[in-house]
Amino acid sequence: MNSFRPADPFGLTRVIEPKGVLPQQAQSIDPTLPLAEDELQISVESLNIDSASFHQISKACDGNLDAIEKHILNLVKTRGKQHNPVTGSGGMLIGTVEKIGPKFPIQTKPVSVGDRIATLVSLSLTPLLIEKITAIHPKIDRVDVKAKAILFASGLFARLPKDLPETVSLAVLDVAGAPAQTRQLVQPGNTVLIIGGGGKSGLLCAYEAKKKPGTRVLAIEYSAAAVERTKGLPFFDDVIQADARNAVEVMQKVSAATGGRMADLVINVANVPETEMASILACRAKGIVYFFSMATHFTRAALGAEGVGADIDLRIGNGYTEGHADLALSLIRESKELQKIFTETYC
Ligand code: NAP
Repeated sequence: MNSFRPADPFGLTRVIEPKGVLPQQAQSIDPTLPLAEDELQISVESLNIDSASFHQISKACDGNLDAIEKHILNLVKTRGKQHNPVTGSGGMLIGTVEKIGPKFPIQTKPVSVGDRIATLVSLSLTPLLIEKITAIHPKIDRVDVKAKAILFASGLFARLPKDLPETVSLAVLDVAGAPAQTRQLVQPGNTVLIIGGGGKSGLLCAYEAKKKPGTRVLAIEYSAAAVERTKGLPFFDDVIQADARNAVEVMQKVSAATGGRMADLVINVANVPETEMASILACRAKGIVYFFSMATHFTRAALGAEGVGADIDLRIGNGYTEGHADLALSLIRESKELQKIFTETYC
C-alpha cells in the first residue's frame, strides 16, 4: 500500500487557499501527513523567527511572553506555516530528519534519517504543525518547540556542522544571504555603511566587507548598548549613533563622517520599518543600496528615491546565494570576535 501523496516538488497540492498559487503566496497551507513521495519530514526543535517579524509580533503583544506564545500558536494553526502577514516574512528552523520520501532527490541533496539540519527556505512557505512551544527567547528571536515540518523537494537545507553550537549555526544560517551578497557587492576602496550594523547580519556583512582592500566600514546603530558593543570591533572603522527612521539625521551624520562623499554601498539590515530614506540619503549618486531588511517597503524605497532625485541602484536582498551557508559559517570559524559574540548571544 502506498502511504505517500504523489510527488509535488513545489508543494502546490498543500495549498488550501487560494488554490493555484505557490505555498509562499498562499493564505493557508496543509501541514498534515502523509508525506508526498518527494518530501522530507523534520522533527523541529527551534524556530528562528525572522527579526523584523519577531519585533512586530513582540510589539503587537506588548512584549508579553504568554501573548507572544498564543499569537504564534494561533498564526501557525491558521496558516499551516509561520508566515507573519504584517511583515510577510518567516524565518527558518533546526531539527532532525525523521522520514524521507522515496522520491526525495537524495542524489543532489544527500541526507539520511537522523541528520541534524537547518532549513534554508523561509518558514513563510514551510508546512509546520506545532504541538507546543517549550521556550521563547525574546532577545534572540528564537522559539523552542515540539513540532513537525515538511521540506519540499525543491527546498534547501544545510546539515548542521559538528564544530559549532547548533544555536549559533541557526542564527548564522538565518541571515546567510547577506554576507554572501556583500562579498559580491563590495569593491576595493569602497565606503560601506551598514544600517543596523550591530545585529547578526550586520556583523557578518561588516566582517566580509572589511576583507576587501581599502574598504572603510561604517555602522549606524540605535541603542547606546549596541554602539558600545560594536565600536571596539576591528571590522568597523566608525560606529555612528542614530535612529535610522530619521533620514535627515542619518544623512547629516554620514556626510560628516565621509567629508560629504557619502557611502558607495549602503547595506540595510535594520529590523524596523521606515528606514528606506535614511539608506537612500546616505548613499552617493550612482551608488548601491542593498535592502536585506524584511521591513523594507518597495514603494517607499522606489518612490522615495525618485522623490529626492537619487540616481542610485536599489537592490533587493535575496535570502539565497550559491554557497551562502558555507560562506557564513566559515566567517564564524575565521573570526574570534564573531565567534565570541555569536556564542555569548546565541548559546
Ligand atoms: P538583528 O540581529 O535583530 O539586527 C537588527 C539591527 O537593527 C540591530 O542591531 C538593531 O539595533 C538595529 N536597529 C533597530 N532599530 C534601529 C533603528 N531605528 N536605527 C538603527 N538601527 C536599528 O536582525 P538580523 O537577524 O540581522 O536581521 C536583519 C534584517 O534582515 C531584518 O529586517 C530581518 O528581517 C532581515 N532578514 C532578511 C532575510 C532575507 O532573506 N532578505 C533573511 C533573514 C533576515 P538594536 O540592537 O539597538 O535594536
